[in-house]
Amino acid sequence: MEKKQFQAESKRLLEMMINSIYTQREIFLRELISNASDAIDKIYYKALTDDTLVFDKDSYFIKVIADKTNRTLTLRDTGIGMTKEDLENNLGIIAKSGSLAFKKENEAKDGHNIIGQFGVGFYSAFMVADVVTVISRALGSDVAYKWESTGADGYTIETADKNDVGTEIILKIKDNTEDENFDEFLDEYRLKAIIKKYSDFIRYPIKMDITGK
Ligand code: ADP
Ligand code: MG
Repeated sequence: MEKKQFQAESKRLLEMMINSIYTQREIFLRELISNASDAIDKIYYKALTDDTLVFDKDSYFIKVIADKTNRTLTLRDTGIGMTKEDLENNLGIIAKSGSLAFKKENEAKDGHNIIGQFGVGFYSAFMVADVVTVISRALGSDVAYKWESTGADGYTIETADKNDVGTEIILKIKDNTEDENFDEFLDEYRLKAIIKKYSDFIRYPIKMDITGK
């Protein structure tokens, strides 16, 4: 297993997001669904020019799975997946996502206003999760990798088992505190409302599965 540190810039944005106000947190789902949709787009466009690839519309979807017993929210997609290098380069460095430019432009402004308005990307998962685990298998690869992070501390990468191409993102939803409630991110109706609010235009089916209590 390899342990790596985030870049300094990433750490600062992470801090900002973790401390963002309660009402802004729900946008993490918009970000993760948009990434899943982008990943499926990539397979779709590849199939247009690659005869060996068939894009069968029915096999492409995004699944949101809430497990109340284990307090996990999982996003699974049948997109293009990530290699080990992709995981390192895309999830380890915030500058890649355009978030760095956004942060610089808005540094002087009020932190929590920014969060809701811009695409803040993958890291927004840390607004609601203590641990984020990404298991991914890239198109054309028969090995899968697991990327895991508790936030500011950096991340680990190791090999993993995954039968199909695509990505699974598992969020260990934070425990409630005296004045903050995170249970809503495991609640079917709340999740559906958030998806309707921000992700209604997504052109792939978003399926949902709720387990535990
Ligand atoms: P952005 O979407 O603006 O590029 P993000 O922080 O949301 O920034 O994501 C960073 C990158 O991580 C993406 O550009 C993509 O390369 C990769 N990525 C994130 N989620 C997924 C996913 N579900 N499948 C494949 N790649 C992903
Ligand atoms: Mg994104």
